[in-house]
Amino acid sequence: MTATEGAIRPAHVGAEPVLRTDYQRSIASYWNAERAPVNIRLGEVDGLYHHHYGIGDYDPAVLETRADLRDEAMIVEMHRLETAQADVLLDHLGDIGPNDRLLDGGSGRGGTSFMAHQRFGCRVDGVTISESQVAFANAQAVERGVADSVRFHFANMLDTGFESGAIRGIWTNETTMYVDLHELYAEFGRLLTRGGRYVCITGCYNDVTGGRSRAVSQIDQHYICNIHPRSAYFKAMAANGLVPINVVDLTAATIPYWELRARSSVASGIEDAFLTAYREGSFHYLLIAADRA
Ligand code: SAH
Repeated sequence: MTATEGAIRPAHVGAEPVLRTDYQRSIASYWNAERAPVNIRLGEVDGLYHHHYGIGDYDPAVLETRADLRDEAMIVEMHRLETAQADVLLDHLGDIGPNDRLLDGGSGRGGTSFMAHQRFGCRVDGVTISESQVAFANAQAVERGVADSVRFHFANMLDTGFESGAIRGIWTNETTMYVDLHELYAEFGRLLTRGGRYVCITGCYNDVTGGRSRAVSQIDQHYICNIHPRSAYFKAMAANGLVPINVVDLTAATIPYWELRARSSVASGIEDAFLTAYREGSFHYLLIAADRA
């Protein structure tokens, strides 16, 4: 399915290409080709595919599991922590009713969107610039019997083409490091109803006590992304009518996940950079919830 097949047809489709820059094309090909075991094997645990990190303490018993079963136990545990992260994000969306609409900005393989629909029973639209993710997530929606309410579109979150003022809640789960925040929040400000809620979970670097650290630069290079400084989020939100109601520092809560992941068979090689950046205080894992004024 493409964006043009959704019931709400993004207005720009046919006029403007979804991918506008070489940078966006390189991100799209990265995600189109992505088959990382840390994403696939964890998703296979229960069919919720996440491309974000986990929070909360892991059960130390997994490390004591019999050697031949230990790897699988660690994978199940990491998946539980990633699902817990999405639950905390959804906790911050506020009161969402079955007639509301939600938007998942940078929806990946769809995990958080399916959880949102399960929880609120409402319509959810996900947008991603990866066509293979769109196909994967829409196939999942059919398999789950929710294709009428949960739809994924090949669309750019900087310019979705969706109608103005019709969306009650928007979230970005680890996607804002790929875009210009001013452009993003101008679009979200346009899409949200007055009083609508935006929730962001992101890694950001600490520009209060320093600049971009070596470990943060390593993370940028690993994912071809551009991690923003903490202050940039609040400036871009304020400039676009998004008023923070909650800021939660999840840094301490995400460290155990990275420690477990570093010891697992699905470690991707970037674990030490995350652990260093978090421990030295140059990087934060932040949740920001804001209301549309
Ligand atoms: N939020 C998902 C996926 C995170 S991975 C999850 O939690 O599982 C990052 C996602 O951002 C990918 O799906 C990528 O395609 C998407 N993305 C990056 N730039 C984008 C843009 N400009 N518009 C829409 N999606 C974008």
